[in-house]
Amino acid sequence: MNTIPFAPSNFVMQSELAMLEPPRRAVRILRANHLGMCFGVRDAISLAVEESRRQPLTILGELVHNESVMSDLRARGIGIEEQAAAVRTPAVMITAHGASEQAMERARSHGLQVLQATCPLVHYAHRVIEQLVREGFHPVIVGQRGHVEVRGLTEDLAAFDVVLTEEDVRQMTERPRFGVASQTTQPVDKVRRLVESIRQLFPRSEVRHVDTVCQPTKQRQTSALDLARQSDVVVVVGGAHSNNTRELAATCRRDCARVHHVQGADDLRSEWFAGAATVGITAGTSTPDAIIDGVENWLRSQFIIHNS
Ligand code: SF4
Repeated sequence: MNTIPFAPSNFVMQSELAMLEPPRRAVRILRANHLGMCFGVRDAISLAVEESRRQPLTILGELVHNESVMSDLRARGIGIEEQAAAVRTPAVMITAHGASEQAMERARSHGLQVLQATCPLVHYAHRVIEQLVREGFHPVIVGQRGHVEVRGLTEDLAAFDVVLTEEDVRQMTERPRFGVASQTTQPVDKVRRLVESIRQLFPRSEVRHVDTVCQPTKQRQTSALDLARQSDVVVVVGGAHSNNTRELAATCRRDCARVHHVQGADDLRSEWFAGAATVGITAGTSTPDAIIDGVENWLRSQFIIHNS
């Protein structure tokens, strides 16, 4: 028998132990009560897929801010163009984010049939702003300047302000009447804070606020806050350019110091979860279920999951 001279008696046992994987830690995984794709995005995707079976179709801009959804649509032969002038199919589709009348007219002037996948809750925001203008209010939109939805909400207006911070409010000039609405995916409390700032800065003005934040965004924001309070680490799943996903991550950071915004399971790093007992998962309104499941499955492969 081959023996190792002078080897300590437990040598073999120790080297075998060294080859074993370290025991997996037990972790609790929580999913937010409301997370992932909203009805507006689901309907827009179904409409694009259905219509593309009838005729060649191009979508004007990103239907949703999610790369996996967009590559799936491209794989189905659906074109994506930023400008109507570049479209080579007879029909174009306006995204769930909506568009201004001017933008749709530009598309028609290129001989294109314009189909709308605009979410009804974005339509509502358009109607609110039109009504405020009709009643003589100067429109103020709480939202991200340059975001496609905000461009759609403002492009037809003769005058307007877009604000996202207190500093933006300080740049506004006094008007007798301000009518405030918001991008549908803004956090409600941020919108209310900015409305309050407008009231304080312009005490002589009449300030009317109409809440246009959509219900799915509100539900996801409230659930995310609840999730962050119970979690050591929160994973927020969604496209890098998705406004509502970024806002969800910002909301979670209020109550949890370890928040990671990922586009999918490939972005996850095991060191993020060191020492964590509870890991929360939430996702933006454009994130498909399969991508959220992929993140949860990755966690399940790394840890022993318990539910208590
Ligand atoms: S986030 Fe809200 S407004 Fe936007 S598509 Fe979804 S439901 Fe509609």
